[in-house]
Amino acid sequence: MADCVFCKIARGEIGTLIYEDETVAAFNDASPQAPVHVLIVPKVHVANITELEDKNLAAHIFTEVVPEIAKKTGVDVTGFRLVVNTGEEGGQTVNHLHVHLLGGRKMTWPPG
Ligand code: AMP
Ligand code: ZN
Repeated sequence: MADCVFCKIARGEIGTLIYEDETVAAFNDASPQAPVHVLIVPKVHVANITELEDKNLAAHIFTEVVPEIAKKTGVDVTGFRLVVNTGEEGGQTVNHLHVHLLGGRKMTWPPG
């Protein structure tokens, strides 16, 4: 999508990627909420989790990309949190599906 900021980042037009493969890109959140705060996005524009139809892509993100980034950022042993905000009440502000990977500090519950 031409005017989507996460599409532009995923295409390498702006920002810096910390991870990239054929279908997925990841980069540091511009407003980090934890020492480690990475956003993992599909390269194809998908608005949110309810629009994700590609089961292989979903499995790839959660079974391969997440563990690799957790290891790369050093939170694989200490633990981390995955967040997928969806829609207005879910707190989604960028309408391109993204998985927040947060770590490097103790997380609290419930979320705000
Ligand atoms: P959400 O509220 O779940 O939609 O999360 C959007 C996230 O994207 C927020 O944590 C923002 O800080 C982050 N964000 C917005 N624009 C950028 C950008 N250009 N580069 C990196 N992170 C961004
Ligand atoms: Zn997009």
